[in-house]
Amino acid sequence: MTRNDFLKVSAAAALASAAPAQDKQPNPDLGFTDTPMLPGMPWHVHDPARPHPKVVVPGNAPGAPPSDAIVLFDGTGLSKWQQRGRGENQGKLIEPTWKLGDGYFEVAGNSGDLVTRDKFGDCQLHVEWASPAPPHGNSQSRGNSGVILMSRFEIQVLDAWENPTYADGQTAAIYGQWPPLVNPARRPGEWNTYDIVFEAPRLTGDQVTKPAFVTVIYNGVVVHHHKEILGPMVYRQVAHYTAQPAEAPLLLQDHHDPVRYRNIWIRRLGGYDQAE
Ligand code: MG
Repeated sequence: MTRNDFLKVSAAAALASAAPAQDKQPNPDLGFTDTPMLPGMPWHVHDPARPHPKVVVPGNAPGAPPSDAIVLFDGTGLSKWQQRGRGENQGKLIEPTWKLGDGYFEVAGNSGDLVTRDKFGDCQLHVEWASPAPPHGNSQSRGNSGVILMSRFEIQVLDAWENPTYADGQTAAIYGQWPPLVNPARRPGEWNTYDIVFEAPRLTGDQVTKPAFVTVIYNGVVVHHHKEILGPMVYRQVAHYTAQPAEAPLLLQDHHDPVRYRNIWIRRLGGYDQAE
């Protein structure tokens, strides 16, 4: 069905719903009410009353933000971000001091983590990043940064090209918990993509009613598939949940290395069958 066909059908449905009930004519294009009920749902199979998903215009190129995305970085500025201060600014949020380049920004080592001004829970996130070239250092000291969901759950950013380190700390690991399923690394200096689908944890106080789950596609390759997260990222410990807010800023980690980022966008994820 083309977009125009869809709009015509939608308009016809609106007219039909506004007409008196006795005037309704069965229209198999719009569904059926003589079909069985779907298990546990208020809908018939092919129910004409079931809400239609809202229209989203996809990005005009692979990786480009769709119409309902919140663009966190389009290459021009860091207005959507703040920075966690260090030194005399410890405990404060300050204006970002990370280096802005031509269409990208770069971690300013030892200056502090970057956090979004907005807070997010369930989301779809697109991030592009590049390791420093030429590479410098080894293991966790080579191109380390991190995409940290809710400022708590780290998807590791590291130079993954011929850089041995512990598996649950390598690039795209759920840090300290799960290595990626495979390692589709590009060379230092080349741009990588993370496409992440994240389900925030649900807690009552510090009691978990539903843990967080994450799906990560790294350079077009699935490296985590709806994987349960044990708790917020920790080093040399077993992660566990404590009380946390329902939404929290996305964080990019300053781990001292000049990792570059570009084209960052995020979509809040809602449920099925939202009202039209
Ligand atoms: Mg890291």
